[in-house]
Amino acid sequence: QLSQRLAVVANYLPEEAYFADIGSDHAYLPCYVCLNDPKARAVAGEVNQGPYESALKEVKKHALNERIDVRLGDGLDVVEPEEIKQVVIAGMGGPLIRDILEQGRNKLFAVNRIITQPNIDSRSVRKWYYDHGYALVDEAIVEEGGHIYEILVAEKGEADSAYQKDKLEKQMWLGPFLIERRPDAFLNKCKEEHKKKMYIINQMKQASLPDEEKLKQHQKELYWLEEVLHNE
Ligand code: SAM
Repeated sequence: QLSQRLAVVANYLPEEAYFADIGSDHAYLPCYVCLNDPKARAVAGEVNQGPYESALKEVKKHALNERIDVRLGDGLDVVEPEEIKQVVIAGMGGPLIRDILEQGRNKLFAVNRIITQPNIDSRSVRKWYYDHGYALVDEAIVEEGGHIYEILVAEKGEADSAYQKDKLEKQMWLGPFLIERRPDAFLNKCKEEHKKKMYIINQMKQASLPDEEKLKQHQKELYWLEEVLHNE
């Protein structure tokens, strides 16, 4: 049984996908996709020996060796330029996902869709998409096992198409599609963030010499959260 989080990621792959799943761990995602679509193929990339071996085992268990190639290596180093059509990077922090995309930029020419699921700091991934000519085409959010996960889908195109100029910073932080659609998990996430922000702001105010710039930024973000939440 695949987690709901990865099932949502899988749903964003087209039929007959040929994708790289970077940081594949047990290769659950590529196995699920290939078991459900006889024409799908994947490269499962892993930088660590343990997860690499788990991936090999899982692929063998399902007899998918012909269609899933498990490779040991860092980020997108494991694929050839123009080899794959989609990239998935899930279950890591946003900054690590951004660094993997940045270091693997020369492997993305033939890639028509990037699906990421940052565990924290999704802003750094949105920003990378934006700065590198990828349009954010959809977002999803999943609440599972006490965690809230965001999924960000991008395609080559007009990088600013999902954003409004005067709301860019807020949308980049919270997600333009999520702000617009307001799913429950998103509102829950905003409530959590609101609590954290209040705490941080109070702590900063108590400091003898608060960093005014940082304080202002937190207050601005608190205001954005209130805009979202008061719209309920
Ligand atoms: N993608 C799976 C998921 O979403 O359930 C597994 C997520 S697991 C928490 C993160 C995996 O990424 C680990 O197995 C780790 O070894 C791998 N990883 C971390 N940095 C990596 C990198 N630079 N290149 C490839 N894999 C990496």
